[in-house]
Amino acid sequence: MATVCYNFFFLPPVGTLTINDPQNWLALLAFLSTAIIGSRLSERAREEAADARSRQRELEVLYTLGRELLQTENVAALLNSLPLATLRATNARFAAIYLLEGDRIYRAGDPAELPPDLTTLRQLALTSPSAECTELEAQAPIRAGVRPRGMLILRGAKFSRDTLEAIAGLISVSIDRTQALEEIARVQAAKESERLRTLMMDSIAHELKTPLTGIKAAATTLLSSGPVVESDRHELLTVINEEVDRLNRLVTQAVEMAQLDTQEVHMTFRPERLAVLVEAALVTSATILADHPIEVKIPDLPPVRADRSFIEKVLSNLLENAAKYSAPHSPIFVSAEERSGKIIVNIADRGIGIDTSEQALIFDRFYRVRSQSHYTSGTGMGLAISRAILEAHGGDITVTSQPGQGSVFTFTLPVDDSKPAPADGKPALTL
Ligand code: ADP
Repeated sequence: MATVCYNFFFLPPVGTLTINDPQNWLALLAFLSTAIIGSRLSERAREEAADARSRQRELEVLYTLGRELLQTENVAALLNSLPLATLRATNARFAAIYLLEGDRIYRAGDPAELPPDLTTLRQLALTSPSAECTELEAQAPIRAGVRPRGMLILRGAKFSRDTLEAIAGLISVSIDRTQALEEIARVQAAKESERLRTLMMDSIAHELKTPLTGIKAAATTLLSSGPVVESDRHELLTVINEEVDRLNRLVTQAVEMAQLDTQEVHMTFRPERLAVLVEAALVTSATILADHPIEVKIPDLPPVRADRSFIEKVLSNLLENAAKYSAPHSPIFVSAEERSGKIIVNIADRGIGIDTSEQALIFDRFYRVRSQSHYTSGTGMGLAISRAILEAHGGDITVTSQPGQGSVFTFTLPVDDSKPAPADGKPALTL
């Protein structure tokens, strides 16, 4: 076109398609060849740019899909999210993933679209040699190495064969990855449970021995043929009584721990007044706290969302620890405040304190501070149980302590503003 126009408008005689001067033929031919070469080159550059753009888009699809698939660590969740993740990354209208394992189809997108039936998909998965992309549908076999694993079907998106195979490969790798992660977690859980069982057996066996020895000695003396003075008889029966209580506490704690572990406990969350819970715990632990002045300062606070009996247990445990790990007659302080939708409770003592290196460990089950375990009885389960209970409530527990100065145990509970607290609730408590 340009050559014809050049001839018509510029080469004499202007306004005609004839050429008089043979030199002008040369100019016209030069113009023609330059125009043809130029247009071919620009066409190629355009094609290459389009090609680069589509490759970039395909790379982006692979990257987005890879990132989405890496987020899941559970096989069932991954399989359910795979089609949607593929759909989102590829912008397809419909995506279906068929897996030979389980003979199931996972699909996402247009509900009007129907994937091929199971028999066809099974056949395709077992025989399809490579990916195929038609106007209507893109299909790619999913393989684990060379072993057929399933089939990927995409509608409403066009990809090169390489990209389709890369998407199917990514899906297969992500399934392998989550299966491996689950296997590792299973092995670790089995190891951990074995370790805990051993620890529990050691701890219980050790803690059982002391009360049993006491009970056996007292009973043997009582049964001995010689006369036993009334005061001695009373003392021996008191020993038996106390040791049985101790055994009872130990077994109860072991059962509670096991139930919390397997999430077999049932908690009923209700709005509760903290002051009421503290008062109940003080009554429950009255014997152990008898030698300690207790100072309670709880202002009028909104109700907490709690299971009454479980939180009373946490409070009793912390109060009893404060008494157990401090000298007789040293005071124990209980206080509480509200901060950003939570009630923060502090239980402080002026006892022996806990070394900084051990402060994080005491919440682990069976952990007891070595230097104290000889002369104070305990199982190392109380704080672990308390932490599990508080976490089930959506709260947490921490400690700040200085050896020789005392400890402050702080736990949080969420405020319950759904309903007013029961009428029996005391708004504040000062003792
Ligand atoms: P237990 O008291 O039965 O040993 P816990 O789980 O209640 O088990 O406590 C774990 C350990 O934490 C205790 O053995 C003790 O060493 C330490 N501990 C707990 N409370 C206090 C406290 N108030 N002061 C000093 N040490 C404490």
